[in-house]
Amino acid sequence: MKYDVVIIGAGLGGLECGYICAKHGKSVCVLEQGITLGGSLQVFKRKGHTFDTGYHYIGAYDNGQSLHRLFDYFNLTHLPFQKMDSDYFDEVVYKGKSYRFANGYDNFVDALAEEFPHQRQNLKNYVDFLSKVGDNIFNQFSPKDLDSFYTASLFGQSAYDFLKETFTDEDLINVVSGTSLKLELKKETLPLYTFAQINDSFIRSAYRLKGGGGQIADSLAADIEKMGGMVKKNSKVEELVEVDGRIAYARLSNGEEIQGETFISSAHPAATLDLVKESSKIRKIYRNRITRLQNTTGMFTANIKLKKDTLPYLNRNQYFYDTDDVWNVCDGDDSQIKGALMSYQVPENGDEYAENVDIIIPMSWAAVEQWDGTKVMQRGEEYNAMKNKKAEECVDFVSKYVPQLKNAVDTIYTSTPLTYKDYVSTVEGSAYGIRKDYNNVMQTLLTPRTPIENLLLTGQSLNLHGILGVSMTSLFTTAEIVGMDTVKEDLKL
Ligand SMILES: Cc1cc2nc3c(=O)[nH]c(=O)nc-3n(C[C@H](O)[C@H](O)[C@H](O)COP(=O)(O)OP(=O)(O)OC[C@H]3O[C@@H](n4cnc5c(N)ncnc54)[C@H](O)[C@@H]3O)c2cc1C
Repeated sequence: MKYDVVIIGAGLGGLECGYICAKHGKSVCVLEQGITLGGSLQVFKRKGHTFDTGYHYIGAYDNGQSLHRLFDYFNLTHLPFQKMDSDYFDEVVYKGKSYRFANGYDNFVDALAEEFPHQRQNLKNYVDFLSKVGDNIFNQFSPKDLDSFYTASLFGQSAYDFLKETFTDEDLINVVSGTSLKLELKKETLPLYTFAQINDSFIRSAYRLKGGGGQIADSLAADIEKMGGMVKKNSKVEELVEVDGRIAYARLSNGEEIQGETFISSAHPAATLDLVKESSKIRKIYRNRITRLQNTTGMFTANIKLKKDTLPYLNRNQYFYDTDDVWNVCDGDDSQIKGALMSYQVPENGDEYAENVDIIIPMSWAAVEQWDGTKVMQRGEEYNAMKNKKAEECVDFVSKYVPQLKNAVDTIYTSTPLTYKDYVSTVEGSAYGIRKDYNNVMQTLLTPRTPIENLLLTGQSLNLHGILGVSMTSLFTTAEIVGMDTVKEDLKL
């Protein structure tokens, strides 16, 4: 059989593309190398507990807000999303002092102005700007707005410079940046658009998903299949074979050939090009350009199962810093922890105590590169010792701020950038894909099109990473197949 659309990867981006194409009557086949769907949304289960591997919370999900509109379209709003504490959805502990993040622009300003009264007007200016960026998110679908101030041009401006121009208090710059382990804070590269769109979405509203992110993938896959499409696990694409300048079929590791009219890859763009081993269309210069792009840093995660009734569940995330410069936490120095996120999973038994928490810290590729090429679970004692030591350091670090944690730990499961590389094939175990650079927008901001007409890209390495960004990008990618007018009609734009 020849499918209309063959998709590589059943993470959020691949599945959303599959959903849109199937909805518009295309025959669809999604190929996932793993035995679990979801990519960075996937969960794992141990001793009856579900642990998230990547994603932890979403923003802009109140009724009518941007992600809610998108998830409504993708039939995901039936999932048990739980609103986080509106008056306290994130906590930032900086220089030993705790700061409260609240949902809603006025609430947000009021909460931080309690600590920074002299910056109240600057905080208002900050949220005014962020809200305009968020309000304009769907204008990206109107080609005339592509160069508009609120989208493309903001990719060419520095997030850090914007903060320096907006606030006159260095501590406040660090505090408003302090919930940003979900981006890679880098003064030299981080585009204002990435910072503003992501932070705006969480100021609007913040939600967790009871039971873990895997449900998003499972729901999309079930709907694709209901619409006549196919989602195949354990189907690693080893080659995309070009015939007469077009991809003719995907060859799987078991030798199976899956033919298609159009191919969409949600794998990292460099990994995608590795799959096209021979091409008359992809010139060396393009290959070099993509493979030389830098990647965002990886993460180390300690998924912690807690002893029963030891740590009260908090309906907020906690970000802790041991550095005066929050913008340095992703600087690649793994010798000491400078910042960490602790996220509580919604207790599945509805209890007031947490069952699991995750501690996430940045970890560079250099920290694990020596074990590249080893197999999962067979990386050797040295690797295990490194992971155990890092997990202990994570617990010690957070216990300085949450002393009950130390004695609450039952079991710790860990993952490193190498885990991500091996499970989802992200280059160098990068958490958020290609690093967008405001100094070099033309090179780092990829479009879905490739030199091969029927090979499209999607996923977090394009446009914006994260659940909101990847969902937007899936619409950009599929607009190349179903047409931009159809996408706009679908979203009632
Ligand atoms: C630690 C961490 C925390 C995060 N926290 C948040 C958060 O709180 N909120 C938020 O919004 N976002 C968060 N994110 C980001 C978000 O999870 C990702 O941006 C998003 O899930 C990426 O989706 P994707 O489809 O682009 O890529 P992926 O999820 O990586 O999916 C790509 C898929 O392609 C498959 N694949 C690759 N190569 C092949 C091949 N050759 N053959 C077959 N299949 C292949 C992979 O196995 C994978 O399933 C977090 C990410 C990480 C790593």
